Amino acid sequence: MNCEQIRELLAGYQDGELDGAQHEMVSGHLEECADCRAELAQLDKVKEVTGKVKYNDLPLEVWEGYWQGIYRRIERGLGWIFASVGAVIMLITGAYYLVKDYFMDPAVALFPKIGVGALIIGGGFLLVSVGRERIFAHNRDRYKEVQR
Ligand SMILES: [Zn+2]
Repeated sequence: MNCEQIRELLAGYQDGELDGAQHEMVSGHLEECADCRAELAQLDKVKEVTGKVKYNDLPLEVWEGYWQGIYRRIERGLGWIFASVGAVIMLITGAYYLVKDYFMDPAVALFPKIGVGALIIGGGFLLVSVGRERIFAHNRDRYKEVQR
């Protein structure tokens, strides 16, 4: 068999559609012929590219992306909920111990108490302000996601 005949069979060889004898012949030729090996490599490349395109066209893929998006959103939502609950619990217990062990402690003078109190109130305002900015940015990101 010459190269031309082999090349006619290469696509079938690639897809595993040849019968046993033909397959043997082609693989035997490929072992000895670098040109036909290169031709087969070229076919493999083409198949890879077209295979990828088909893969992307599958509606299943689209749905998977869709569910992944929803899953990601749920995950992020849960993250926010748990983080917020944790932060609230920490703030409440922190405030409780701060009041009990610091502000209610008669050994601590009034002046530093005012200082610490002012610091906490100031920090609280900053936190609320930053948090509101984050929420605003978050909503805008979600809007962008919808637009895309
Ligand atoms: Zn050849």
